[in-house]
Amino acid sequence: MGLLEDQWGRVANDLRLSLIDKCNLRCTYCMPAEGLDWLGKNELLSASEAVRIADIGVRLLGIREVRFTGGEPLVRADLANIIGDLRGLHPDLPMSITTNGIGLEKKIDKLVDAGLNRINVSLDTVCPETFAKITRRDRLPHVLRGLEAAAAAGIHPIKINAVLMRGVNDDQAGELLDWSLRHGFQLRFIEQMPLDADHEWTRSGMVTAGEVRERISEDFELRPQSEPRGSAPAELWDVRPLAAQGSEEKADVLGQVGIIASVTEPFCEACSRTRVTADGKIRSCLFSHEETDLMAALRDGSSDEQIADIWRAAMWAKPKAHGQTKVGLGTPGFVQPDRSMSAIGG
Ligand code: SF4
Repeated sequence: MGLLEDQWGRVANDLRLSLIDKCNLRCTYCMPAEGLDWLGKNELLSASEAVRIADIGVRLLGIREVRFTGGEPLVRADLANIIGDLRGLHPDLPMSITTNGIGLEKKIDKLVDAGLNRINVSLDTVCPETFAKITRRDRLPHVLRGLEAAAAAGIHPIKINAVLMRGVNDDQAGELLDWSLRHGFQLRFIEQMPLDADHEWTRSGMVTAGEVRERISEDFELRPQSEPRGSAPAELWDVRPLAAQGSEEKADVLGQVGIIASVTEPFCEACSRTRVTADGKIRSCLFSHEETDLMAALRDGSSDEQIADIWRAAMWAKPKAHGQTKVGLGTPGFVQPDRSMSAIGG
């Protein structure tokens, strides 16, 4: 099997497959208020094309895990069919979705029956007013009901992805962590990346991982976990009550929190990801300026081997970091990609 190697010695085995660019929220750090020009139905990967891509990745290219993303993947009515068909081909493949959680309460049982293993839910606050301000929609109760349903359906772990923004929710880190620990969810704070459609991100305005740790430390004691994190982007910390500071009792550990320093402590050297957008383009790096079209090959009768060759060549050219040959978001040479987060697929 020829793997998805790149010129810098990395091997990609983690596929992020976007199924749709649409979303039912309008998060300020991702989309403009009026939405974007959505892809037409015929421009989107069909269910069978999405399954074929993932299957080629697993059989011919060494993909070991598939995460379905969007936009919002739950907006796709055939999501359970896609998961079920891929599960039929690969009974042991870890499959997950990254979702905003809206609609999960109605769909989760079907998704689990189809073979979904894990979910990541994007949730930046549990305060209804702050949620409405960030997402421009008043739908926090829907998200919370979705999370409850996922836990009841036996999904474990359930990860919560949160972004802190200065003056918006950066005073709520402790509250969100407390809520996540009480519900048994694994919270990960992610530094905001320059992938907003409005291009308003600035390096100086961003809340850094160091600041996230400081904010949490106002309410909890954090201790670094000793296990190596491999290619996992989150640095994990044990969380203990402030009252237990200095104690070595294991019983004092309330749970863990992850902090993903995508901007200030980049992990590009260990990157194992390959992305395919909802319109069938390979993005070797989240910040790539170039994409490689797979859609034409999917639709012109090319064989699985030919498609695998296109994918290998695209990944060989993967940039060293952040879409360039040097590491650094917000550095002088860095140019934000044209596509925003929702159009790339997170
Ligand atoms: S910026 Fe690109 S290379 Fe770095 S971790 Fe993200 S996808 Fe991988």
